[in-house]
This record gives sequence, C-alpha cells and structure tokens, in this order.
Amino acid sequence: MSLLPVEEAQARLLALATPLPPTALSLAQAVGGYLAAPLAARRDQPWTDLSAMDGYAVRWADMPGPWRLVGEMAAGAVPSGDALAAGTAMRIFTGAPMPVGADTVILQEDVTADGATIRLTGEGPGAPGRHVRPRASDFGASDTLLSAGMRLGPAQIALAALAGHAMLPVRPGPRVAILSTGDELVPPGAPCPPGKLPASNGAMLRAMIEGVGGAVIDKRLIPDDLPAVTAAMREAARADIIVTSGGASVGDHDLIRPALEGAGGTIDFWRIAMRPGKPLIVGRLDQAIVLGLPGNPVSALVTGALFLLPLIRHFAGAAAPLPRPRTGRLGAAMPAVGNRTDFVRATLKDGIATPIGFQDSAAMRAAAQANALIIRPIGAPAAQAGEETQVLDWPSLGLVG
Ligand code: AMP
Ligand code: MG
Repeated sequence: MSLLPVEEAQARLLALATPLPPTALSLAQAVGGYLAAPLAARRDQPWTDLSAMDGYAVRWADMPGPWRLVGEMAAGAVPSGDALAAGTAMRIFTGAPMPVGADTVILQEDVTADGATIRLTGEGPGAPGRHVRPRASDFGASDTLLSAGMRLGPAQIALAALAGHAMLPVRPGPRVAILSTGDELVPPGAPCPPGKLPASNGAMLRAMIEGVGGAVIDKRLIPDDLPAVTAAMREAARADIIVTSGGASVGDHDLIRPALEGAGGTIDFWRIAMRPGKPLIVGRLDQAIVLGLPGNPVSALVTGALFLLPLIRHFAGAAAPLPRPRTGRLGAAMPAVGNRTDFVRATLKDGIATPIGFQDSAAMRAAAQANALIIRPIGAPAAQAGEETQVLDWPSLGLVG
C-alpha cells in the first residue's frame, strides 16, 4: 500500500468527523471555543454620540467661544431633549452622551475657566466633530460581528458582551480517550528498572488535547497484549476520539490494527508520507474516531499536532482547523527530501528557522527546545541557508499551553 500525502490524510480524517452540536455557554465558559453561529449585534455601539475625552461640549460650528457653562454630563447620564444653545458649553466627561446640538468636545487642557466663562487658550479642535464618538461608529444593531467557526478569545468575548450577549452558542470540545501501549512502559515517576521506560506520550497528549479544548475522559497504559488492547478499545468507544500511542507499525507487537478490528472497528487508512510519523492509523469504532499514533515521542508530538489537534478543533467547530504554515527562511542548508514530507524540528526567530541538531524521532530533548517545524516537501532539492521555506510555528500548531 502506498503512503498517503499529509494533506490528503488530513482532509480524509476531518471528513470522518461531524462537529458536535452547540450549547449555550456563558462568556466565561465560551473562551477558547469556536462560535457555532454568526453573532449579530443587539444594540448600537455607542448607543448615541459620546464624548471621547474630558472637556466641554460646544457648538463649535456656530461659535468658537467664549462659552457660558450651563451644566455637566457624566457617563451614564441621558441628555435632556433641550438643545445646547450657541455660545454655551456643557462640562462633559469621557463616555458621556453629547448634549443635543453640540458637535465638538474641547479638551479641558485647552481652555481656561473664569467663573462660568470658558475661553479657548490652547490649540482648539480645528474642525467640528473632534473628540466625539458618533453613534454606532463601532457597530450598529443587527450588524454581523463574528462569523461561525471563529475562535473566541478575550477580544471576541468583549465584543459579544458589548453587543448585548451573555450566552454564546459554542460546540463542546470532543471527549478523548488516550491509550498508551507498550510492555516496556511504566507510569512517570514509578520505579524504572532496566528494560523499562517512563511513558511520556500520555502526559504529552493530555497537555496537547486540553490545550486546544478537548476533554480527556480516559487515559491509561496497556501492555502489548491483544485481548487487553482490544478490551481497552471497546471501553474507550464512548469517547468521540480514541487516540492510541505505540503499536501502530507492522511488527509482531504492533497490536493497534488487530485490536481495532477485533473490537468491531474498521481501518479507514494508515501509513502517511511523512517523517517523523509514517505509521499513523485512522479508523472508526462505533461513533468514535480512532487515531493510532506512533510510539516514538517526537513522532507522537508531530502526528498529534498535525492530525489529532486539527481533529479536535474540527469537532469543536473551528472554521479553519488545520495549522497554517507561514513563510520563513532557512537558517542552515538542508539536504534533498525523499518520498516523505519532512517535518524538521527547528527554532524560529525573526523569521529564520534553524533545524535543531538531533532530529531522531525519539529525541525529546531537542523537540522540547524547538518552537517550529520546517516543512520540507516530498522531492524537494537540497536547499541553502537563506532560502524561503514554509514553517509551522508552535502557536499555529496549538502547542502552547
Ligand atoms: P512503537 O510505536 O510501539 O513501536 O514504539 C516506538 C518507540 O516508542 C519504542 O522505543 C517505544 O518504547 C517508544 N514508546 C512507545 N510508547 C511510548 C510512550 N507512551 N512514551 C514514551 N515512549 C514510548
Ligand atoms: Mg510498542
């Protein structure tokens, strides 16, 4: 069976999953989620013309002073229906509504007050309209402010609040079960006699999953025993995603394929044209999508970032679930690429992506120093330092917290 190109495998994987149904979440709960429907404003912002500064509201177009002080407007006040007369001024504060008829705010530092008489002694507004925020200049009622599938960060949450919303339609993050397989694995911190290895993929995958809003509902270590792996798969089938680590190749101890089939699931595709990470399995078990990642920690990191995290974002309703590469320059010469896309662990600084020395697919120390992957496409010729390259940085991959 030939190797599947990465983009094709990503598209096939995402096509298997339907975004989860949305629920109404409070603004606090919605942060980090994706909006499930376009968000329309329920009010004008600002609701009327407001002062943008502390100063004096006047009819500048009619008369450039002096003015007689007739009152005061603070934020929260509602202007009376009476028009401000030419030659009069209203003390006004930031966020206060403009009196009817006033067109301009004179900055308080530009005037001298002598009893109730205000004189311009500074620079002046220049033209009518200065320091006024016109009604609906930010947005108007029924404007569409955010589109479906946008991620809700702090600024989007603030916009929704200003627009009159306390609840937002957001899809939940998918529920994920993590099954780490391998006779050699012991839990982190447990005694680790010769022949054993602390299991690191479970903790890494949990951090990755929770960092993009997925919910880990099960996480366990399973020995390389077909009945045990099969039983664990069956139990995990209540999840939206079952992610396994290890056992995805074709060795005698590689049990993910037979376990998935033994549990009643199906393989959709496997083996991807990428390095690290060739032995990736995608299948289904009941309603769950099964993603079989390789056991080597760096392979699990890279395939997790390129397949698992986009799948989670897709379940959660992201409009653009795939990481978006950007253009950088190579900080070092690179060899020609064979028949698998190479995702080279690198440090990215000021647009220069420099490969990290030790590129072994088990070399976690180097991977933990990286903050980007250089994408070296299938068949690319050798490249010189300074040449343009496509780069996936950690934030675009979802690998920051
Ligand atoms: P496998 O994909 O099962 O052939 O495993 C490939 C390599 O990754 C082996 O050296 C395993 O010991 C190692 N490995 C497998 N699972 C884990 C894990 N959860 N944490 C750390 N290393 C692992
Ligand atoms: Mg193994």
